[in-house]
Amino acid sequence: MSNTRTRLVMGNWKMHGNLGQNAKLLASLRAAPRSASGTLMAVCVPFPYLAQAAEALKGSAISWGAQDVSAQAQGAFTGEVSGAMLVDFSCRWALVGHSERRSLHGETDQLVADKAKAALACGITPVVCVGESLAERDAGQAVAVITRQLAPVLALGAEAVKKMVVAYEPVWAIGTGRTASPEQAQEVHAAIRAALVAAGAGNIQILYGGSVKASNAASLFAMPDIDGALVGGASLVAEDFIAIAA
Ligand code: PEP
Repeated sequence: MSNTRTRLVMGNWKMHGNLGQNAKLLASLRAAPRSASGTLMAVCVPFPYLAQAAEALKGSAISWGAQDVSAQAQGAFTGEVSGAMLVDFSCRWALVGHSERRSLHGETDQLVADKAKAALACGITPVVCVGESLAERDAGQAVAVITRQLAPVLALGAEAVKKMVVAYEPVWAIGTGRTASPEQAQEVHAAIRAALVAAGAGNIQILYGGSVKASNAASLFAMPDIDGALVGGASLVAEDFIAIAA
């Protein structure tokens, strides 16, 4: 690897799982030998299962987090979950701005930045997800869209951004089986890296997400600005997720 950033492979379980399935999956992850490459593994589980993940993974090398966090600290916000609540379950990570939150729940770029700020205020690392739609890519707008999505996040300042992770997830590659080629992904990662350098936080991890599997992980991870992956579907199958990290 041409840089000093630790590789990170993070699972996003989305709205999948139950107590029984999770117990088996978490036990298999816990039992897996640590990747020889030193790649870190993490899982972002549905809120009700944070206690289960914390209990099952405590003392292991695998960390856990949530798939969202409220921009608010506390109060009359029915259905929301605050950063402080996530800290009660020793969460290290919170995804913010996943494309499903942006498209299905109308989350704006500014709200995503506010969520990242709220996570940081509680000592949780926000994993800021960005990515263009297929129409935007076809219109040659990929980098412009990502630049727009990142702007309010970068406006939080270098000291804040240095404590974040960015995940580039082209919407057309999420859950579709269609992965960006390593070159396509690298091109956008390089643009994100340039924006991070300009913001004074050039060395944070940038993950790629979108139909990552064991068969395509190595070629993606060989790219200079791809520091790991955010993995949806394949993170639900222990051997697939372990193989990606390996
Ligand atoms: C995701 O939801 O973040 C994701 C990348 O999903 P998948 O790996 O299934 O495409």
